[in-house]
Amino acid sequence: MFIAFEGGEGSGKTTQSRLLAIWLRDQGFDVVQTREPGSTKVGMRLRAILLDAVHQGLSARSEALLYAADRAEHVEKVIRPALHRGSLVISDRYVDSSLAYQGAGRALDPADVVRINRWATGGLVPDLTVLIDTPPSVGLARLGGAADRIESEPLEFHERVRREFRALAAAEPDRYLVVDGTLAQEQISLLIYDRVREILPD
Ligand code: C5P
Ligand code: MG
Repeated sequence: MFIAFEGGEGSGKTTQSRLLAIWLRDQGFDVVQTREPGSTKVGMRLRAILLDAVHQGLSARSEALLYAADRAEHVEKVIRPALHRGSLVISDRYVDSSLAYQGAGRALDPADVVRINRWATGGLVPDLTVLIDTPPSVGLARLGGAADRIESEPLEFHERVRREFRALAAAEPDRYLVVDGTLAQEQISLLIYDRVREILPD
């Protein structure tokens, strides 16, 4: 089973994916907790390129392709092998981040972003995507100041990203859980556990 966490900056994806992994391991499941970009050797170098503020002028198409390259490596080296072993995989970000940031954020044709990512992943789609929906003003304030190249983008950029995440979730309500990222951390966890319980293997 493959679960992805999505959401904007400072939405709490990392915290919630870690808590879910602990909750599942406590029940005896083998869990691989991973993230994008940067969960492979090459991916770590791609992450450094992608997030370094010195690459402020990186073209939108290059950015989309580098994220797709990181994802191809991630799927082939980490996610698919873990799924084959029967592990539960939890990824902090996946394809939706590219549709939101490179598609809506950078105004690339969404059909192109879908296509390169379908190719990069061999069509692997999560069983469940948890969207932690947080107003960018709230999320960015939590970070206490922009740290990377994308966090320094204007608020309108992050608003477009949020809108796209919500549109993706609305289009496939059965495969998404949308939680309000302004709720308390414990409340968010409980909502996630309730939804995941429904799809757990025996
Ligand atoms: O989730 P995390 O903050 O570690 O991700 C690194 C950064 O990469 C994010 O701040 C996000 O802005 C950016 N990103 C992106 N496009 C993606 C995935 C992540 O711009 N497809
Ligand atoms: Mg970030």
